[in-house]
Amino acid sequence: MQLTRADKWLIGILIVAAVGGIALNIAVSYVARPQKAEIYQEGHLVKVINLRPGYHEEVRLGGVVHFNVVVADNGRIRMAEADCPDQVCVHTGWISQPPQQIVCLPYRVVIRLEPAANADIDDITR
Ligand SMILES: [Zn+2]
Repeated sequence: MQLTRADKWLIGILIVAAVGGIALNIAVSYVARPQKAEIYQEGHLVKVINLRPGYHEEVRLGGVVHFNVVVADNGRIRMAEADCPDQVCVHTGWISQPPQQIVCLPYRVVIRLEPAANADIDDITR
């Protein structure tokens, strides 16, 4: 197959566009990385927090005793406090990437990270 000069230009432009698109996708997935944290209590989804840079939220589950305090901050989330006997959830520390999760077995609380679908596209076009 004989390529004309126009064909070569076209191919060159397509390659640049493809590589640029891939690079942009990688940049978006590494920089923005929008995640949502799903908080389950006794197997029920009780709260969804969108994890974004600069966003802060605290959620308290349970009562005066038998409690968990979940803190979302700047795109990550942790169990800041709990009065559960094993403290495994508190010692898990910050998580920020699926499929990481925090589990409090004694109180049956699970914090799961999921990619927030399409949120990155919305953020770019906005
Ligand atoms: Zn715990």
